Order: sequence, then structure tokens, then C-alpha cells
Amino acid sequence: MSRSVTILGAGLVGSLLAVILRKRGHEVTIYERRPDMRSASLSAGKSINLAMSVRGWKALDLAGLRKDIEDLAIPMYGRALHQADGASAFQQYGKNNEAIYSVSRGELNKRLMTLAEQEGATIHFEQKCIDVDIEKNVITLEDINTNKTQTIESDLIFGADGAFSALRNAYTHTNRVDASHHYLKHGYKELSIPPNEDGSMKMQKEALHIWPRKNFMMIALPNTDGTFTCTLFLPFEGDISFEKLTNEEEVMAFFKEHFPDAVPLMPTLIEDFFNNPTSSLITTHVDPWHFGDKNALIGDAAHAIVPFYGQGMNAGFEDCTILAGLMDKYDKDWNTILEEYDNMRKPNGNAVAELALINFVEMRDKVADESFLLRKKIEKELGRRYPEQFISVYEMVSFSHIPYHTAISCIHAQDELLQNIMAKGNFFDSLENSDYIAQLNKWVSDYHQSVQQLDFGHDA
Ligand code: FAD
Repeated sequence: MSRSVTILGAGLVGSLLAVILRKRGHEVTIYERRPDMRSASLSAGKSINLAMSVRGWKALDLAGLRKDIEDLAIPMYGRALHQADGASAFQQYGKNNEAIYSVSRGELNKRLMTLAEQEGATIHFEQKCIDVDIEKNVITLEDINTNKTQTIESDLIFGADGAFSALRNAYTHTNRVDASHHYLKHGYKELSIPPNEDGSMKMQKEALHIWPRKNFMMIALPNTDGTFTCTLFLPFEGDISFEKLTNEEEVMAFFKEHFPDAVPLMPTLIEDFFNNPTSSLITTHVDPWHFGDKNALIGDAAHAIVPFYGQGMNAGFEDCTILAGLMDKYDKDWNTILEEYDNMRKPNGNAVAELALINFVEMRDKVADESFLLRKKIEKELGRRYPEQFISVYEMVSFSHIPYHTAISCIHAQDELLQNIMAKGNFFDSLENSDYIAQLNKWVSDYHQSVQQLDFGHDA
């Protein structure tokens, strides 16, 4: 039996979810706070991008949308590392030429909204949800232009309304709901690198560029229009911080000192710096993610995370994949669908939040270290030699569908394995030595046994 479904938020996840629900015959109405970003007056502006990996692609495949999105995506096969002294190096991500894909967030969102409408979903813009009665399944909407309010009842509500979700907020006002949020001490600001006059790109195209500087960093992802979007992650306060960058001279001196190779590529640096906002980064947790057979949270509304693993959208899209599988399995039994969705996804939401925080330290602080680089090379070689037994945590997260909670559970055992190998030294020189190989086989086998009981999922 089809249900009348309300989705709060026509962001990336809400729009994709609408396609998935429409394909299963449900009536879908989305209420979105913002104006329609496809209208001409709003479509100009800077490209802001994000990295899509296999979890995101899988959800798009499921919704039959890969071909509609593929031309927006630029593969990034590794990290292009920019050192403080101006030297650069390239670190391949995967052992089999795997890539993550830079996609324009705005274009992706616009296409997903159009595809949702083409499937028969209705989107009402400039309608802000200000309250949800979770027991009666009634939302209160405020028209952004007139301030008039209206209430709407539906069979099922999904809160896909981001980190400050109205549905999540309603949950926090009920009994026995655990909720927390945590702001990072760092904020971020988006900057840009334009193309050369002939349209060519100013840096290597198929790479995620990174300027790691211990307690802060800048990254840049390529766009299909030849530009790069840079993101500076910096503490809000302290010796080196946003609060210390208050005028042109300070900003220029900071960039010349820490990102000397980037400065000549950024002719609009000062303008961008002072025109673009400094935004905060939040991690949220909530438990439960659903209420009976009536409503549930999805995407950032359920699990807002910091962006350092490039997994926020990917995790939200994977929520959609899992939900679609449960809809196919349990048909009209929404009590079971939402209960299982909550049970399956919440541990993964918690795990990806933690992974993202761990990767912040790795990206800003470790990627330039010699021992870290050696460890990455050894991990790749282990993956090649022992494909059935070893896959690195990075590859689990970015290039597989292995549950995030499994990936995080492997960290400790992988640290132990790599510490053993690195303490012995001469890894690459010893691979012809049969005694060494026997020892290596034993270490890897011990590692494998220690993680074997974990849930590697059906796609692992
Ligand atoms: P959102 O994109 O936040 O969409 C929510 C929608 O709901 C919005 O359209 C909003 O206007 C609307 N809304 C909000 N409140 C209401 C309301 N009360 N009523 C009605 N509508 C409402 N993820 C990746 O996978 N890879 C990356 O590389 C990556 N990079 C990132 C870089 C940065 C700097 C940041 C901040 C995030 C990054 N992310 C990345 C995370 C990603 O942007 C989010 O996980 C993703 O946008 C979540 O999608 P969503 O649809 O759940 O929420």
C-alpha cells in the first residue's frame, strides 16, 4: 500500500530519497526552506564541491541516476601534497587505481531535485518546517515570504533537513531521547583558484590537493569549469587562527608564509577571504533515529559529521540504499522497516562521525610524515599480497561498502599489525626472504583472525 510521505529538506539526501520512494509508488511531497536554486537569479555563484565515493555511487545506481550525474564528476586518484617549502608529491589512494570523485554540490543538488520532480515528487520551496508533532505526524510550516503558517498531516515523515533538523529537534523534546552536538574548534572558509586564460587548470586535475600544516590545512578539489574550490580549515581562536586574520596584510602574510605555492594561483584571495563566510563544523548524535512507523531521520539530520573523510553525503546516500533494501524486504511493514533502519544505521552513523574526526588529525598532521607515507605503502603491498585477509581502513571507508562500524573496529588491530611490521624494519627489502615471509604470514593471519568475526557486509 502506498503512503503519503512528507520529506523535510530538498538537499542531496532528501531529493535522492524522494526518487527512491517514488519508484516504490509512494506519494512524495518535499518542503524546502530555501528558494529553488535552479532559478536563474540564484544559479550564478561559486562552485562548491564534494567528494563522492562508492557508497554514494551505489545509491545513485539504485535510483537509476548514475548516468545523470556522471558528467559532473572528476575522478581524483590520490592526494597531491603541497609542502610548506613549496615541494609537492602525489600519493595514490588505492592499490587498483581507485578514485573518489569531485562533484559540484550545487549541480548535483539541482539535478537530484529535477529527477525527483520527474519521478512525480512535488517540491514546495521557501517553506520552513518550524515544528513537528511526532505522534500525530503533523508538521507546521512557515512561508518564508509571508510568515504565514500551515499544518500538514501525512502517513510518514522523513527529516532530511540537515544538521539543525526540525524533526531531530522535536525528538529532543520527548522522553528518553539522547542527543548531543559538538562544535570543532576549527572553522572553514571557501576560496578559489580560477583556470588559466586558455581554460586549462592551474594544478593537476585528477587529484585532491592538500596543504597539511599540523594544526590547520587547506585542501582544493577540481571543478568541471576548470576552477578549484579551496577550503581553509583553521582554528577560530589562537596564535594561528581566523581571529588573527583581520586585514589584507595579515591574510597575505599568512598565505605567503604557509601556502607560498598557492598564492600566485589565487588572484581573488583577498576578495574571497573577506567576502566568504567563516563557517563552523559540527558533529551531532541522536538516539533513536525514528518514532514507531511514523517518522525517521536521514542524512545529516541523523548524523552530521565533520568533513575530513569526505563521507557525510556518502553516508546519507548509503542510508537511502539501506532503507530501499528494507522497503523491498518488508513492503508495507513500516514499523519493522524503520526499526531495522535505525538498528542498522545508527552504529554506522556513530562510527563514521568518529572516523571523520580521526581523519582530521591524519590529514592535517600526518600525511606529510615519512613514517606515515611508508605505512601507507606497506598497507597497499599487504592488500596486494593478502587480498582476502587485509584491506586498509581507508580503503574500507572510501572504496568498499563494508560497514563503517567494522572499519572503525579494525583500526586497533591494523595499528598493531603495522607497528609489528615497521618495528622490524626493511619491509620492502625483506620480501624475498623466506623467514621474513613466514613471520609476515603469521602477523597477517593473526590480524585476520582477530577481525574475522566482524560484520564485513554482503558486499565486502
Ligand atoms: P543538507 O545538505 O544540509 O540539506 C538539508 C536541506 O534541508 C537543505 O536544503 C536545507 O535548506 C533544508 N532545511 C533545513 N532545515 C529546514 C527546515 N526547518 N525546513 C525545511 N527545509 C529545511 N560529504 C561527502 O560525502 N563528501 C565530501 O567531500 C564532503 N565535503 C564537505 C565539505 C564541507 C566543508 C562540509 C561542511 C560538508 C561536506 N560534506 C561532504 C558533507 C555533506 O555536505 C553533507 O553530509 C550533505 O550535504 C548532507 O546532505 P543532507 O541532504 O542530509 O543535508
